Amino acid sequence: MLRLILAIFLTSAALAASGPVYVVLWFDTEDYIEPASDDAALRIATELDKLGVRVTFKVVGEKARVLESRGRTDVIRAMGHHDIGYHSNFHSIQPTPALYLRDMGWLDGATEFERRERPGFEDVRRIFGATPSCYGQPGSSWAPQTFRALLRMGIPVYLDEGDHVGIGEQPVWFGGMLNIFSMGRYQLRASLDDERALPQAIEKFDHAAGQLEAKGGGVISIYYHPNEFVTTAFWDLNFAKGANPERSEWKRPPRRTAEESERCYRILTRYVEHAKSRSNVRFVTAREIPLLYESQIVRGGDRNSIARHLAEHETFLVTDHGALSAADMLQILLGITPEIIEGPTARGKSNYHLEDISRVVFDRAKADASGFIRANKRLPADVWLGSEKLSLADFAATLAADDGTSSAVRVRKGNLEMEKYISTDARRSFDWPIHPEGFSAAELLEMARLQAWTLKPAILK
Ligand SMILES: [Zn+2]
Repeated sequence: MLRLILAIFLTSAALAASGPVYVVLWFDTEDYIEPASDDAALRIATELDKLGVRVTFKVVGEKARVLESRGRTDVIRAMGHHDIGYHSNFHSIQPTPALYLRDMGWLDGATEFERRERPGFEDVRRIFGATPSCYGQPGSSWAPQTFRALLRMGIPVYLDEGDHVGIGEQPVWFGGMLNIFSMGRYQLRASLDDERALPQAIEKFDHAAGQLEAKGGGVISIYYHPNEFVTTAFWDLNFAKGANPERSEWKRPPRRTAEESERCYRILTRYVEHAKSRSNVRFVTAREIPLLYESQIVRGGDRNSIARHLAEHETFLVTDHGALSAADMLQILLGITPEIIEGPTARGKSNYHLEDISRVVFDRAKADASGFIRANKRLPADVWLGSEKLSLADFAATLAADDGTSSAVRVRKGNLEMEKYISTDARRSFDWPIHPEGFSAAELLEMARLQAWTLKPAILK
């Protein structure tokens, strides 16, 4: 009897601990050179439809236009049964986003991204009849300014893979968007090239799903490209190492044989069927993901614990009320209602020469910082104390440590712990055969560190 009760107890405990696993399966649909890739997209969309699985096709603007001009309404319609995202206007035609944004600032860079990329977004919207639900960069051509531009375009989700920014291999809020990015061991795929490796890929999937179930739930990200099913090399090697040949000189990629392609489709189908067979697994599209997560805007939170945290650690804080970014916490400490705001455009520098600030001067600085945030929906790089100033980091630490009553406020140094979630490898993070050889973009990572004020884990509902 005792054993039976124990067994029931253990089973119910296991069930309670078994969280949902959301699988985001996405296809970067980008090859506008080899027409067989159109058929691959059609076949994938149709087969997954038959399996009852909805996926996300991130479409390149030029690809959408090419499908339209080739009269492929069948492909457009089949993909349209799934979710449609955006994957840049021309993908690999030079210059790619990280290249043209590296030497630009936050505001002008965002304007430039929008100038270049909005036309493709509009074309995808017009051709597929749906506003793209997400964006992801071509290759590793990631840049922080894109976030400001994408929000202006009405895209709430960043879906891609890279190591530029991330926390704990699960979705995060960054730059005002929900990011399915830097997913580490939860970024999976079954190799299309080796059917014998499928059992290991399935085992790996089960292991990852089991880990997430035990943790109370999470997301697995899986991606392919329709062109991979029909070609053995990428279509965009035309643009390798910064090359930019004229359209008439573009070469078609080498084709797979029909049998090879069948094997690729078979692997995908079996992999998806297996994932689907797990009771806790649910396939979700980029459009559905925000609904699974707690709102980015957290109202409330205990002011004292926020102050204690921010005085020592300038990074996000997970509370019973939800996850707070450093920007959220700074707004709460300033007594303003937290909104989605941007990080500073530059790294401020303190030159205030005293150890203490008089209460009246500090109160004026707080009002000034609040005014800036409200007016610009952005954090200031530094905060003025008369003719001198404190960097944002030092100001935030000083504010957090202030007891609010003493006649003078002791200046504290900020500790930008949030920055450890941003890559420091400017070469590897931008490594992509299409970027000019040796391309690195330390400037973009530095800008990402400034935007880390907005970074926090996304919390599943
Ligand atoms: Zn791509």
